[in-house]
Amino acid sequence: MTPAPATPASGGIDPPALAAELRSGSRRALARAITLVESTRPDHRGAAEALLAELLPHSGRSVRIGITGVPGVGKSTFIETFGLHVIGQGHRIAVLAIDPSSRRTGGSILGDKTRMPELTRNADAFIRPSPSGGTLGGVARRTREAMLVCEAAGFDVVVVETVGVGQSETAVADMVDLFMLLLLPGGGDELQGIKKGIVELADLIVVNKADGDMVAAARHAVAEYRHALALLQPADARWRVPVLSCSAVAGAGIEEVWRTVGRYRDLLGGAIAERRAGQARAWMWSEISDTLLDAFRRHPGVRADLAHLEEAVTHGRTTPAAAARELLSRFLARADA
Ligand code: GDP
Repeated sequence: MTPAPATPASGGIDPPALAAELRSGSRRALARAITLVESTRPDHRGAAEALLAELLPHSGRSVRIGITGVPGVGKSTFIETFGLHVIGQGHRIAVLAIDPSSRRTGGSILGDKTRMPELTRNADAFIRPSPSGGTLGGVARRTREAMLVCEAAGFDVVVVETVGVGQSETAVADMVDLFMLLLLPGGGDELQGIKKGIVELADLIVVNKADGDMVAAARHAVAEYRHALALLQPADARWRVPVLSCSAVAGAGIEEVWRTVGRYRDLLGGAIAERRAGQARAWMWSEISDTLLDAFRRHPGVRADLAHLEEAVTHGRTTPAAAARELLSRFLARADA
């Protein structure tokens, strides 16, 4: 097949050729493809979509794992040890990160390659820090697309990492098959540091640092979390959220975590397909609302009066509903014309 020539509209990029290179195993092509889907330049968007259309039939054949936990719980240490174990089982692992607060200049905390030195050097691993800047929605979209790109490049385990302190956990839970929460030994106190809503999102809980003088505390924490979870309604009656412990530093318990991921897939295969279908539908709707909102904010008739109407609402001179109706009627009048 002769690849279509690059057009100015594709930002000088030839999507079919890039897709073919990426599929043949080129890491350079993989990195370029992800840079393309992460780009916010409008002329890159068309090329990114053309590339994704090429890759979509080859995506989806992976287990998608979300990992969250407070800073210091051991996420990067865990991913390094877990990743090397999974590679030892014959798999290839991609690690992506979602951190809407990250700035490339300041160095992203998540997915930072220096935090996973061995994995970084491994030919069967690919690590990508969080795309910098933008809203959570924008960062999440770019990470979802990067996930599809990694799958098409033959990575059959994709880990999406996020910090368990903000809003990004829901975004991650909405793009993975299994959402894993890492906790510290110590029980109840940590449960308070982690929002209860995050515990409810978890498909698997792992108490890390179960080593040295923390073994007893870890055992206690496991019992406590099991007890707490017994009071929650399971999302799927077939899956009671397991609470495991491990030591990311010593490697103990890591194999059990990977086996549990396998058990989850075997038990919930059909439900995972449904979950992905629901995620794809929700993603489409969020694309629609983001795009509409963007167009709305850029609309000249809206821009002309947005600040002034917002201020009128702030000071109670008009109602929010009336101001919204006024702005929407300008936007829609032009859209209809
Ligand atoms: P992150 O911020 O969640 O990515 O946490 P890190 O992986 O950077 O780990 C934070 C600190 O905890 C580091 O000093 C690690 O060496 C340490 N750590 C991570 N996992 C373990 C573990 O299993 N046992 C012990 N004792 N320390 C650990």
